[in-house]
Amino acid sequence: MAEQHWPVAVITGASSGIGAATARALVDHNYRVALLARRINRLEELAADLGPAALPIAADVTDRPALLAAAERIAAELGRADVLINNAGVMLLGPFDSTQREEARRMVEVNLLGAMTATEVFLGQLRAGGGDLVNISSVAGRTARAGNAAYAATKWGMNGWSEALRQELQPDIRVTVIEPGAVATELTDHITDPAAKQGAEQLYEQLAITAEDVADVITFAVTRPRRMTLNEILLRPTSQPG
Ligand code: NDP
Repeated sequence: MAEQHWPVAVITGASSGIGAATARALVDHNYRVALLARRINRLEELAADLGPAALPIAADVTDRPALLAAAERIAAELGRADVLINNAGVMLLGPFDSTQREEARRMVEVNLLGAMTATEVFLGQLRAGGGDLVNISSVAGRTARAGNAAYAATKWGMNGWSEALRQELQPDIRVTVIEPGAVATELTDHITDPAAKQGAEQLYEQLAITAEDVADVITFAVTRPRRMTLNEILLRPTSQPG
């Protein structure tokens, strides 16, 4: 009898928040998951919970050799990747000025260049079996506002890049962009500008939805029949105004 092929999903930023919740949801749907992030201890804890379907791998998305090594290991240990979820990201909000120079650069390097590098590294695997590319953008990829200039630039960039890829990679690879509003995760913990941090935390306390809410949407998107693609999904907490 032919061996059953369990679909393999690679999730960047799987050590917390949306990435970790998506790993759980996909394992519930019989996926094998490769968990990528920098905090290997967190990935190992999650993998221990998920069982043999999960493979934890320390990989910084700004480190191309680490992603190449991860791709080799995944192909050898789990099988070729069917789904890549570009989820790793940082949201270092603050006014656009020289004090925020490092933060702005880091967001571009992680959110945008990191996603591009992971995609380029896994493209051959995704193409080989008819795969899915899921890019986690944001409401900030559709609306720009004072105080989120560099973050919005990374997410607007991701949206434009994704639409071009959608046209370029179809029908072999389906491209889906997910644009969540406020989701309760560790995302706001890393903001260094005190006013921006306080503002974000206040908003999130009032209305944020859960990482599991977004994980359900991602899982729904990738489990649709291959004749259709959910190209772009914008979702907000019901009471989020902008
Ligand atoms: P978390 O902070 O909980 O998760 C971010 C993840 O990204 C972590 O697993 C972190 O792991 C990983 N990460 C950060 N830097 C790197 C790096 N250089 N290399 C590899 N992994 C990295 O936040 P969320 O779950 O909320 O964020 C996930 C995505 O969702 C982000 O792209 C974010 O922009 C997006 N998003 C979130 C929203 C929200 O309100 N929470 C709304 C809209 C979009 P580690 O530190 O271990 O490397």
